[in-house]
Amino acid sequence: MSPLPDPKRTVTELKELRALTADENGAQRVAFTPAWLAARAWLREKLAALPVEVHTDAAGNLWATLRGEAEAALLIGGHLDSVPNGGWLDGCLNVLAGLEILRRLSAQYDGKPPVTVRLVDWADEEGARFGKSLFGSSACSGNLDMNEARGLRDKQGISLPEALKVVGVDFERVKDSGVELKTAAAYLELHIEQGPVLLDLDLPLGAVLGTFGVERHAITFHGQAAHSGSTPMNRRHDAFLAAAKMSPEIYHIAEHSGGGVCTIGSCTTQPGIVTSVVEECRITLDQRHLDAGRLATMLQEAKEASERFAQEGNVRVSWERLWQIAPRPFNDELIALCDEAIRETCGTVHRLPSGPLHDAAEVAAAGVPTVMMFVQSLHGISHNKIEDTREEHLELCVTAFDRLAGKAMEWIRTRS
Ligand SMILES: [Zn+2]
Repeated sequence: MSPLPDPKRTVTELKELRALTADENGAQRVAFTPAWLAARAWLREKLAALPVEVHTDAAGNLWATLRGEAEAALLIGGHLDSVPNGGWLDGCLNVLAGLEILRRLSAQYDGKPPVTVRLVDWADEEGARFGKSLFGSSACSGNLDMNEARGLRDKQGISLPEALKVVGVDFERVKDSGVELKTAAAYLELHIEQGPVLLDLDLPLGAVLGTFGVERHAITFHGQAAHSGSTPMNRRHDAFLAAAKMSPEIYHIAEHSGGGVCTIGSCTTQPGIVTSVVEECRITLDQRHLDAGRLATMLQEAKEASERFAQEGNVRVSWERLWQIAPRPFNDELIALCDEAIRETCGTVHRLPSGPLHDAAEVAAAGVPTVMMFVQSLHGISHNKIEDTREEHLELCVTAFDRLAGKAMEWIRTRS
């Protein structure tokens, strides 16, 4: 019989890490700080018991490599860094489940599995200190905007390049870390869901289809200020009336989009006084979908609606793009394997997209076949010390993720 992972050990180690790097307000492993370095030193000690090569790449990502018969590598990723006052699972569950898989594989194959297996602890996934998430993985994928990142400063005025220097990373060379992906044949990431979908379905595990693309815009309606007493209703150019009609419309657009979401997150009016018809009304619209075509349709529909409402109300409308990112769909075959691993472990599976971005999105963008597995979050809450998952679910996710790793290795072997 082949050796099995020990999921209980993962739960014990999560608690160990919590005792080492959390206080009464939650996890304090902000990237590039002493607590983060302590967490990494603790991980290195664990890795020292295994026949793996450990090194830090040019962007400060930590890699543990278990060399296999084939050079083609299965990557398993996570992040030890947390937000300030963070939860005990976000990011480190993935790393510790990966550690357990390395243990299982080195025992089963006497230190040399059929394909190479590499655990990566990405540096600064959260972006808590410099306001820019996915630092290590975006440097590695090549997507990091160097000019923007060079200018980032924390609250103390310390720049990102200065903070990196303290931990031995040369900012100008961070993209050299891309070499790490040269032999990557597949990438797996386990994560707590950080939302309520699996909780509401009463399911422990889900296979993730990809990360949402985002379109973020400001929409301004331009009308005319007029006295609220003397202006008859039919003579008004009311910018707020047109903007307000957008609210039910975006629910309608989301509803028939096949899984997308739309949010009007803010609304401001000018002159913004009780006795005047609104001259200018600015709303923000955030639209997300897993499918690029459907995301584009959602945006187009919102634009057409805004023009229709503007015309109806004798006002003008203008649009300004605030931010956008393309959807990152994961690999279909790996999604199917993830599905299978979950079914074999707990009988039922649900497929769901990820609203939040993860390092996996960067790896997928670099062209590496990728999939993620989600485990249920209690309260549907994360980035908070109350973040939690039932221990039985934590154990199930380690078992299922280990199964997925086995299937992915086989998948790599038959492809190469
Ligand atoms: Zn995370």
